Amino acid sequence: MTEHAISNCPHIEVRHSSVHGAGAFALRDLPRGSLIGIYAGRRYSADEALGEDCDNRLTYLFGLSDGTTINGAEGGNATRYLNHACEPNCEALEEHGEGGQLALRIEAVRRIRTGEELFIDYALNVDADADPLDYPCRCGSAKCRGTLLAPLAEFASSTPA
Ligand SMILES: [Zn+2]
Repeated sequence: MTEHAISNCPHIEVRHSSVHGAGAFALRDLPRGSLIGIYAGRRYSADEALGEDCDNRLTYLFGLSDGTTINGAEGGNATRYLNHACEPNCEALEEHGEGGQLALRIEAVRRIRTGEELFIDYALNVDADADPLDYPCRCGSAKCRGTLLAPLAEFASSTPA
């Protein structure tokens, strides 16, 4: 199973990250726009319950614009090991895969050099009353939001008083 997962993502390897747990690292120089991999995992439809343990695995869940969710913790590949950063070197783009189903394409947003750790911006969407500090970010970027959550707070604070 592990070999299968890695064969889907030939340009990255998973090893210990200085940021958080395991991380994904470039095995070669990757030009901007390079495909890192297609985010894999169990697919849940919009009206399907995600299961009780999903709160603990929030960072493996990807919600798509068609209402489905991919849970990378079940049957995922190496792309699930990309850690969060507020100024990431990769992004997740929706595209229509085989059969017209929406897929998540992880690609490089700038040139990435061999050995660099790969990141995406999780921009998590959770309950409106969630505390952003329950999902802390310490990515070290000058633009760090301090949280893995989507930047909704910015809109709120820019609203005229
Ligand atoms: Zn950050």
